[in-house]
Amino acid sequence: MTHPVPSKKELFQHVEAPRELAKDDGQALKPCALCGGRAAKRLYMQAHFPVVRCRNCGLIYADEHFKDADLAAFYSGDYYTRAYVCHPKEIDKKIADGYVAAFDRMGRTLKGGELLDFGSARGTFLSELRRRGYGERWNLRGVDINADEVSMGLAQGLNLHAGDLASARIPDESLDAITAFSVVEHLQDPISVLRDLGAKLRPGGKLLVHVPSGECLIIRAALLADRIGGRSTRAFTDSVFHEEHLYYFTPRTLTHAFQLAGLRAVQFGFEPSYLETHPPSPLVALAAWTMRGTAFLVRRQTMLYGIAERPA
Ligand SMILES: [Zn+2]
Repeated sequence: MTHPVPSKKELFQHVEAPRELAKDDGQALKPCALCGGRAAKRLYMQAHFPVVRCRNCGLIYADEHFKDADLAAFYSGDYYTRAYVCHPKEIDKKIADGYVAAFDRMGRTLKGGELLDFGSARGTFLSELRRRGYGERWNLRGVDINADEVSMGLAQGLNLHAGDLASARIPDESLDAITAFSVVEHLQDPISVLRDLGAKLRPGGKLLVHVPSGECLIIRAALLADRIGGRSTRAFTDSVFHEEHLYYFTPRTLTHAFQLAGLRAVQFGFEPSYLETHPPSPLVALAAWTMRGTAFLVRRQTMLYGIAERPA
């Protein structure tokens, strides 16, 4: 690897000092990816940058621009292991179970064919599909920018490509389904990626996007804690607003994003995150159980999935 891997601290270091002092004048530095507007309400001051909500269309995003090379380096090496707080193998299996359930919601209306998992990492979701016999109806393949992860999947006989979507050289209108689990919120320019993904779908083909919900209860709780507790609740608020998450979508803003990408939204749903369904400790379990129950009752669960179709 030629580009050195920056730590989280290093990646966000260059923006830390000046932005902590920046005054909120109601204007975002970065225009909204959906409507191009700059009028924005600052929701939360990350340690390194503000998270804002566009006053025009409601998109919630990190008001900061990163270098593509820095982000690519950040997601290289052992990123996926660093990103999960629990034992990666156990968590991998549990996450994959949830992903298969999400895929089933989309797959019901599809007969089979070519499936691409975009941001597949080592292919845990694809290998779970294969284990359950989905390989008979679906030709499974994955793309991920992390070469180390891809080589682990290749060793298991999965069809994975290391690199971005363009380098995978997938012909336009050749795919029947695409999944993107916990990917779109990390992208600097999600609309152009969604557009590129949409172009790979055959007319009638479907895309499943799984992202943290921008209107979930835990985000509301974190914002409230930030207002009341300030520094004393910072660890909690920071754990909710991951620095790597550059966007928080709602059904409304994700519908807008799909439209800009030439896709038609067909279904949305909410579900708890894997930390809530599989808490790593009894204390987290208690908090998670309370949070899940309340979030379910008020329809403000942590994860949002959206299914879009390429119009015929
Ligand atoms: Zn906007």
